[in-house]
Amino acid sequence: MDFLRMMVRPVVQEFPLWLTMVLTLVPSTWGGWIHHVLLRHEFEWDFMRWTLASMGVVAVPATLLVWLVARWKHGRWLKCLAYVILISLWLVSLFISTNFNTTYTPQILQLVLDTNASESSEFLRTWLLAPGSLRAYFYTFLTLVIVLVAEWKRQSIATFLSRRVSTVIVAAMLGVLLVWGLWVGRKLVMPYHSLHEVELAEIRMQSNDVISTLHASILALKFQVEETDATVNLTLKTAREGVATCDVDSMDLVLVIGESFNKRRSSLYGYALETNPMMRAERDAGLLTVFTDAVSPYNLTSIAIKNMLSLNSLGHGERWHEFPLWLAVMRRAGWQVDVWGNQRNFMTGMVFGASLNSVLFDPQVVEQVYHAVNDKPFVMDGQLVEDYYSKWQPGKRNLVIFHLMGQHTAYDARYPHTAEWEKWTTADLPHADAPYMDEQRREVMLDYARATRYNDHVLAMILDHYRDRNAVVVMLSDHGEEVYDYRDFTERDHNTHKTPEMVRCENDIPLFIWCSPRYKQAHPERFAAIQRAASRPLMSDLVGQMMLWLGQVQSPWTDSTRNVLHPAYRPSPRIIYDGIDYDQLVSGKR
Ligand SMILES: [Zn+2]
Repeated sequence: MDFLRMMVRPVVQEFPLWLTMVLTLVPSTWGGWIHHVLLRHEFEWDFMRWTLASMGVVAVPATLLVWLVARWKHGRWLKCLAYVILISLWLVSLFISTNFNTTYTPQILQLVLDTNASESSEFLRTWLLAPGSLRAYFYTFLTLVIVLVAEWKRQSIATFLSRRVSTVIVAAMLGVLLVWGLWVGRKLVMPYHSLHEVELAEIRMQSNDVISTLHASILALKFQVEETDATVNLTLKTAREGVATCDVDSMDLVLVIGESFNKRRSSLYGYALETNPMMRAERDAGLLTVFTDAVSPYNLTSIAIKNMLSLNSLGHGERWHEFPLWLAVMRRAGWQVDVWGNQRNFMTGMVFGASLNSVLFDPQVVEQVYHAVNDKPFVMDGQLVEDYYSKWQPGKRNLVIFHLMGQHTAYDARYPHTAEWEKWTTADLPHADAPYMDEQRREVMLDYARATRYNDHVLAMILDHYRDRNAVVVMLSDHGEEVYDYRDFTERDHNTHKTPEMVRCENDIPLFIWCSPRYKQAHPERFAAIQRAASRPLMSDLVGQMMLWLGQVQSPWTDSTRNVLHPAYRPSPRIIYDGIDYDQLVSGKR
């Protein structure tokens, strides 16, 4: 008992300081609680877990701090300094969140680093007395009053907390929080070698306290600057002075990057619900080729798409940032490049949201490589497509890349809730009778099927613009998804241990190539080559080679042995997650 009391004494004695630290350094969880519980009246266990993990991460240094304050002879000064820093950080957190609805992120940090003195005085003039700022000042003042009252009553409350029962309770709570904090907080001291590793750690060891977000933001900035700079420089250099020629006079080439598309939920790959009626009609009309053995190297959007847009080959051990984006090679060869992305501005607070956009929408790349980009995302992918074609200014050789929201998590938000799209009921679902399935899960499954059918319609909307033109449209997903396929689980699993079922759902991707009637007629040999390739093994990092061939672009990067559509194609090992041989895992082959 005495030992317990001794252990928790500094925390009990200095509880106002300890609590201030643990409560003010988790600002985004408070925002989340307000959003979930107060506004939407729903309690989420995941959110509770996230909050406790974040508090745990802060509890470790908070406990060390109160120990120092209690034991060190200059403890009083340390305590004052700590309060000044904590209240200042709290004010900044509130200021960012009330004015900009965000928290410490790589962007905010970048902004601070990029801002010069005159810009910052202008910034202060604009925001100093904004309504959001006034609210932030008020909340900070309120916090200060509570802290002062707690400090004033500190001794009597500490005496109460030092009683036998309360000591045991405090010790137990503190123990849980510290163990949890150390477990999650180990990501703060791990070595990192790439932005991808930072993204993975952020996803596997979730916490969003100020320490974790600052740590991830600083690392993200460091790697982002290195990797993005390398790619952006190579890309700009290629667009400016690279060697690239094109043998085609006028053509349209479209790449549609879908999102979280589970191949088994497509009727083109055997799903019993007709989720791809429009694409099936294109296939039956002999225009659409369905690829049966395509996989994605990762189950994460940003790293999967970076590899897709770069000219590297993971099977040859090449990293994406050692190569230029193939869009720049196409541009150099005389293609007009447009990019319409529905994930622009999506989850920019997380490393994974920021890292793809920092390459795809780098201001210099936008200016020097693209002809046009969208300026905002849309609620529905169909609106994004409409927006593009309402502004369409085709030249002679046109390449457009669509990056859709597809079937991303929150499946019910991925299709319009009108009679046309609210097709089927849970009773229509095939394979929905596993023991872990209940009505709520069947609803999720149903939403996924409906979102897939809406995605089919979005793809058809795109094709409709090319029926009378010389065009090829390539459609694939960034990665797959789990939707209660074989276990009680949805979305994607970021555990390092991968099973065959897991990678089949999360890494297998649908891939279709549509050729317009005019293209098919003018290039029967190319159409035949596409059809012959339909069952060849492919990983999406090699999509660039396919696009260069389709656009008939010759360049030093063009390599027929890496082009699935070419007779010279030599499949290299399909290395997923930087070290797992996909074929070996899934079928024991190779
Ligand atoms: Zn994705």
